[in-house]
Amino acid sequence: MSVREKIKPQSVLSPDRTEIEGAAIQWHAIDNKESLQYLNSDEKAGLSQAESTDRQLKYGLNRLPSPPKKSLLQRFLLQFHNILIYVLLAAGVTTALLNHWIDTAVIAAVVIVNAIIGVVQEGKAEKALDAIRNMLSHQAMVKRDGAYITLDADQLVPGDIVTLQSGDKIPADIRLINVHDLRVDEAILTGESVPTEKHHNTLSVDTVVADRSNMAYSGTLVTYGHAVGVVVATGTKTEIGRINQMLSEVETLETPLLREVDQLAKWLSLAVVILASFTFAYGVFVQDMTGAETFLAAVGLAVAAIPEGLPAIMTITLAIGVQQMAQRSAVIRHLPAVETLGSISHICSDKTGTLTRNEMTVRTVELGAQRYGVTGSGYDPHGSFTLNGETVDSDNEAELMKLARAALLCNDASLVKKEGQWLLTGDPTEGALVALAIKAGLDPAFEQEEYPRTDIIPFESQHKYMATLHHDHAGHGTIYLKGAPERVLDMCQFQRSATAAGAETPEQAREAIDKTFWLDRMQAMAAQGQRVLAIAKKSVPAEHIELNFSDLNDDMCLIGLVAMIDPPRDEAIAAVKLCHSAGIRVKMITGDHVDTAKAIGAQMGIGDGHRAMTGSELEEMSDDELQKIVEDVDVYARTSPEHKLRLVSALQARGKVVAMTGDGVNDAPALRRADVGIAMGINGTEVSKEAAEMVLADDNFATIARAVEEGRTVYDNLKKAILFILPTNAGEALSIMGAILMGTILPITPVQILWVNMITAVTLALALAFEPAEKNVMGRPPRDPKAPLLSGFLIWRTLFVGMILVAGTFGLFLWYQSAGVSVEYARTIAVNTLVMFEIFYLFSSRFFIESVVNKAGILGNRIALYAIAVLVVFQLLFTYTSPMQTLFATEAIALTDWLIIILVSSSVFVLVELEKKVFRDKRQKIAP
Ligand code: ATP
Repeated sequence: MSVREKIKPQSVLSPDRTEIEGAAIQWHAIDNKESLQYLNSDEKAGLSQAESTDRQLKYGLNRLPSPPKKSLLQRFLLQFHNILIYVLLAAGVTTALLNHWIDTAVIAAVVIVNAIIGVVQEGKAEKALDAIRNMLSHQAMVKRDGAYITLDADQLVPGDIVTLQSGDKIPADIRLINVHDLRVDEAILTGESVPTEKHHNTLSVDTVVADRSNMAYSGTLVTYGHAVGVVVATGTKTEIGRINQMLSEVETLETPLLREVDQLAKWLSLAVVILASFTFAYGVFVQDMTGAETFLAAVGLAVAAIPEGLPAIMTITLAIGVQQMAQRSAVIRHLPAVETLGSISHICSDKTGTLTRNEMTVRTVELGAQRYGVTGSGYDPHGSFTLNGETVDSDNEAELMKLARAALLCNDASLVKKEGQWLLTGDPTEGALVALAIKAGLDPAFEQEEYPRTDIIPFESQHKYMATLHHDHAGHGTIYLKGAPERVLDMCQFQRSATAAGAETPEQAREAIDKTFWLDRMQAMAAQGQRVLAIAKKSVPAEHIELNFSDLNDDMCLIGLVAMIDPPRDEAIAAVKLCHSAGIRVKMITGDHVDTAKAIGAQMGIGDGHRAMTGSELEEMSDDELQKIVEDVDVYARTSPEHKLRLVSALQARGKVVAMTGDGVNDAPALRRADVGIAMGINGTEVSKEAAEMVLADDNFATIARAVEEGRTVYDNLKKAILFILPTNAGEALSIMGAILMGTILPITPVQILWVNMITAVTLALALAFEPAEKNVMGRPPRDPKAPLLSGFLIWRTLFVGMILVAGTFGLFLWYQSAGVSVEYARTIAVNTLVMFEIFYLFSSRFFIESVVNKAGILGNRIALYAIAVLVVFQLLFTYTSPMQTLFATEAIALTDWLIIILVSSSVFVLVELEKKVFRDKRQKIAP
């Protein structure tokens, strides 16, 4: 049953039960102004801070309860639900039946320790995911005490006035008061994927939720337009809260590699059980060993060969990686992205804010007759105007004031000073214009009071302009338009005349527009990497109170151009370089002018400073043509979001693995299509975040490069864990199998094998999860995404190391036996040899084929050193304390024995380092 079907009947039968002062109110069926009265709120002032605090005490936070968590006991018990544990439990029962109580106890201990590790590891993974969820808190624009502020959505209370705009996730249930072309995707609530058009008119009381087009429901997404509304229900009282659907899906730590490893572990377990059965049959029937003895040996073999620790180690490695990325501002929303990051070959990045600082400052105002320079930096509205190098008083520059007023009124941004710093609310381009207007001496509050806004066409990146309609108190109407110069110039028939200041009639103040002049000026400023906007106006009669696109087609008069700088981020320049060294091509995709884009690209090392393509050129190309050139062109300008989708598809068709950044609602399809969609945490819309695999908490390109590095490291570490665990398991298993096949006594007993596996899994293998990045991690090409997990290299290394371990362990065991020591003594030697082998091999496993014979190689991973120290202590206890001697049938060995053990076991280090050298010398590229 769809969600729609589920909620329809319920909503018809039960009225909205949003309780305000005890009343059950059908918000959609009462007038919008009336709903404000019910809620004791005011559209202009919003709630006061004090009132909102009171209401929060009463109604609670605007949050849904998190899904119930499994209890500790449940989580512990679930650890036993695993094929390997079943095998072990069966072995435990059989050993008990055979009265081998020590074996039973050890098996029980192993199973329990394993479960504890599992619970701890899950806790760690969950913590990593929780941290991520908390970083992705959702924000709302709320009016409090008469001013709009940005708040965490969970702070909303009934009665709050909120604005909604394209890209927002609706933060609560809202009765719409003022609507401008609002379209909302309500699929989460109604199952309907086509966005619904909204309005503010009253509806009949029996309208079902899915048709209440004057309401906006929590969790749904604004795909277009703009609206103001009043919050009528929060938290569990919202529609979504009532149907009890979680807004954020709960994810488990799983990725393709992890699934592959899980699968591999299962197949290995099965193969091992079959192999152990054969070995058992061989021992009993061919070698004439006793059933009980052979059975225990077969269990030992199974335990030795199954990489029981592997899945847990993999999950921990991934959890640590995800946490580390989050600490470095890259929030992973879908875990498989961690692996994909490592194979990215192209990053397509927005310019504004990601590559540049997004701190726009107007530097030049071009009025045709005059060209003003503007001083000051950032959003600090202190600065002055210069004309021909001389500072001028803006009060005497009437045309400049006209432009400043237009820039201020056709604007949604505001600047406030907090703790000595000027902070911006809204769009940076608009923030720069507010600063410009204040520098010219205008007071934003006063101007907005004097020329109240009657209507708006909001900025959308498709049309690249914004227009507003204002009426002064005498009723004079004015339309202000600002936007990309080519667009605005296209709409203007007039420009202000050189003598406009002294003109007596409006007609005298304007003249036919000289587009060539303005386009030349625009290009000159853009070529310096500046963003240029054109500003225009038109007078309309008092009764003209609705603003339509068609109003912009005639009579528009250009006032002038403004050019603003947005410096590249220094760290992004370095990151682009790093990406290039890592074999990753960086492409810049911007809505800005092509000359601005080329200039900024050249400053950042993207493209060659000459070649660039515009959105309209791209539109004229067929998919085939685009695919042919897409790899060579790095700068794309004047693009719209749909061009991003074509670019991603073209690159993917060329077999590339593509990361794409985006912030707007229309970027969502490209983000979804990209191998790794990356949304902006600060300036991104909620819609883009929902579509992305990764969110940048700092909107910074450098963070992407770091995440790629981290992604490559995590993948490396996952592979290193496999590369460490499989050969050691193979060595253990081969020792036992060899003994049975040769009919000799086991060099290591099953309980001893269990001990070694358990103790090395919690120490050595885990240490690899903390392995720092290899030094060339960003100096090698991206990983081939199709490369199999079980690469030839991995299989070779498993066999190679497995054989060294068998030869050393078995060899020493036989040698000691022939020297006449007890079986227990020889076995203690064998176990310690095996453990020492693992320690030495751990060092070698830290780097795939780089040598570890240097400071970084030996001392580079502190956790590994601690793990080794802990392991050595355990081995000493195992060898020298009497309870352990009884439990594991060990004997104290002499100091000289240790020397022999170290001598033999260090051979693995020497041999593997030699093997790596051979690979390096051959320059054989081994994709790790
Ligand atoms: P990038 O794609 O590099 O991040 P962007 O997203 O800022 O750049 P758009 O927002 O699509 O690019 O802007 C494209 C053009 O639209 C700008 O070059 C500018 O001329 C114009 N523009 C940008 N913001 C506004 C605005 N708030 N009002 C009017 N016009 C704007």
